[in-house]
Amino acid sequence: MTVRYRDGIEIELSDGTRVVCDADDPDGDVNIVSHAHGDHLPTGERTVVCSALTAALGTARREEPLHRTTDERVELVPAGHVAGSRAAVITDPDGTRYCYTGDVCTRSRCYLDGFEAPDVDVLVTEATYGEPEYVFPDHDSVVADIDEWLTATEEPVLLFGYALGRAQKLQLLADRAGKQVYTTDAVQRVNDAIEDHLDVRFPVDSYDEETDLTTGDAVVLPMTTTRIDWIEQLAENAGAATAGFSGWAVDSSFRFRGNFDAAFPLSDHCDFEELCGLVAAADPEQVYTQHGSGDAFAEHLTSEGYDARTIKQNQTTLGDF
Ligand SMILES: [Zn+2]
Repeated sequence: MTVRYRDGIEIELSDGTRVVCDADDPDGDVNIVSHAHGDHLPTGERTVVCSALTAALGTARREEPLHRTTDERVELVPAGHVAGSRAAVITDPDGTRYCYTGDVCTRSRCYLDGFEAPDVDVLVTEATYGEPEYVFPDHDSVVADIDEWLTATEEPVLLFGYALGRAQKLQLLADRAGKQVYTTDAVQRVNDAIEDHLDVRFPVDSYDEETDLTTGDAVVLPMTTTRIDWIEQLAENAGAATAGFSGWAVDSSFRFRGNFDAAFPLSDHCDFEELCGLVAAADPEQVYTQHGSGDAFAEHLTSEGYDARTIKQNQTTLGDF
């Protein structure tokens, strides 16, 4: 059996079945999509194993529909990363259990349940923040800091976060702080799909270039619009304060690079300690790490006695399973 990183992660089962996860052009016998972020969605019209909400979001966010199917060898469990995100537990005919996390977060927050790692033989985990310096303050204190800043800031605020994930939490936090909340059509398409599937409502108005911003207004903008010149112009015209939200905000350079007035470590990923806890809970014989600090995290796990290695694109790794 083999775990490879080619176009997405490919797991070959003992009977030759190829399970392909989060590929751009998935060609496996079983194709899985963990969540509806752009770097995990396939191109074109596809039928994949995913949650109903990921299929709806994939359809809303792309030109062509994403259809959903199931497979008896694949169990999807909440990954806690964004609305609809799932980790895949794949059972080989020989009994070996694999878990592919996709992007993952073990902290329950807002309307998301944190990921609970299943007991598996082989774990393929993301390691975006897989180094000891990436430890986030607890979620409640981050939320309290954001609330304090929103409440204390009278001028309009521009809040930047990914269209799926951070943007929804920011709309809820700004509303709770008493702001009049605006967002773009792209974010509203994501809101609509989430509202259809989860018990949550986003109280928000449409924002466009004509919108006149005044005291107490908050605009939630997708991270993709963080073009510095455009933001500076908008912030200047509206007399607005800007804030960025990301796990990278644990490092002060995040605020300076984004030229934000404020930055908060609000993340949809595990931090280093949570990743360590996830691996301990899964108790695997073999760990593969990918993304971000994959190398450093595999080294750390090896020093802790795990059989761990980072999995790089187009490098074939022959596992023990
Ligand atoms: Zn993601």
